Amino acid sequence: MMSNIRKLIIDNCSIINQKCVLCGQPHAREGLCDGCRAMLPRMPAERCPRCAEPTVGGALCGHCQRQPPAFDALHVPYLFAYPLNGLIHAYKYGRRLQLAGTLSGLITEFARCQGHKYDLVIPVPLASERLAERGFNQSSELAKAFADTINSRFSDSLCWRKCNTLPQASLGRAERLRNVRHAFDVKRRCDGLSIAIVDDVATSGATLSALSKMIKKQGAKRVDAWVLARAFSLKT
Ligand SMILES: [Zn+2]
Ligand SMILES: [Zn+2]
Repeated sequence: MMSNIRKLIIDNCSIINQKCVLCGQPHAREGLCDGCRAMLPRMPAERCPRCAEPTVGGALCGHCQRQPPAFDALHVPYLFAYPLNGLIHAYKYGRRLQLAGTLSGLITEFARCQGHKYDLVIPVPLASERLAERGFNQSSELAKAFADTINSRFSDSLCWRKCNTLPQASLGRAERLRNVRHAFDVKRRCDGLSIAIVDDVATSGATLSALSKMIKKQGAKRVDAWVLARAFSLKT
């Protein structure tokens, strides 16, 4: 009798009984079956230790040698490529909020393997106009789940985005840096803190670097960036 009730509860538990968001197969853990999970595009193992750009033998890339970003390291498990790019797009622009759990699951699984800890975990903030238009900050959900997993404190009030900058996707690398240079402000001192900033996708890393720079100006001793997927822009 008891086991029947337990079975009923388990069968109705949405986390265990979710359909795979890619192939529709039932009983998919956090919305992804094992087959589809294995198909997700992983980052190459040999990459720049600073910005995660693929490099021969894992050497420091040319950009980081010439002009290193303000963050200390970029941690990223996946490439922004099929089919993950479609999921991220549907979550962000198609308001498929149930995908928050699936995508958070991917970044927390990666975080668990890495064993890092921070004094504070923050999302990359959205400008208020963009937040009003989208209704939610896609990075906040990822950052909250990430903070929970590594037992670190979450805050979405440390910094804010001053101006609604041009979409980074339309710009080349140098323009991206200029576009976000003055976009962020940090409200409090962060003396001696190690801070993780979380976002869904990084391309040149310009946004993450601009935010890291402001946080370091407030005294943070280390700033790492954690993103779900790294895109590679054709423009350089
Ligand atoms: Zn599947
Ligand atoms: Zn690099």
